[in-house]
Amino acid sequence: MYTLPKLEYEYGALGSYISGDIMQLHHSKHHQTYVDKLNKALDDAPALKERPLESLLADVDSLPSEVQSAIRNNGGGHYNHSLFWKWMSPDGGGEPSGAVATAITEKYGSYQAFVDEFTATSLGVFGSGWVWLQPDYSIITTPNQDNPVMKGMQAPLLGLDVWEHAYYLDYKNKRDDYIKAWWNVVNWNFVESRSD
Ligand code: MN
Repeated sequence: MYTLPKLEYEYGALGSYISGDIMQLHHSKHHQTYVDKLNKALDDAPALKERPLESLLADVDSLPSEVQSAIRNNGGGHYNHSLFWKWMSPDGGGEPSGAVATAITEKYGSYQAFVDEFTATSLGVFGSGWVWLQPDYSIITTPNQDNPVMKGMQAPLLGLDVWEHAYYLDYKNKRDDYIKAWWNVVNWNFVESRSD
């Protein structure tokens, strides 16, 4: 049985950048629903319970058709959100350091140029989806609760949820204001730990 992971900080800890109301709704309702529906799907295909989630997602196109879309949407939702909480921190923001900083500067010219490109890509996502920074430092997007693992790619270094449920309470339809605020809470330590 999958369970909702605890946050490593309080709901209100991200201050005005991402409010406690949003964090509580997003974590305790949206993420919990993905967990519940994933467990329900696996009850209908118990053999799949033996396999790690990342392996199910990597093989999602070959899963039994009765549970395939439930695992894609809810397994993806659980995987993506479990990471998303860690990609934010009350001690976040600023710029990356070490190998991540070097790689970003090599690829984009500067940290700011990277932020501008990631932001523009995020604003370009039509409807609901995610934006990812990959281990090769490319920026890609996936629709709905899909992720790079489902496309046979490596797990991402960083990801941003651009579903309206991630920002609507605070920012209404202003996705650009949400993204601008989000950079102030990005947990570069966690990104750096994933790049090793
Ligand atoms: Mn979300």
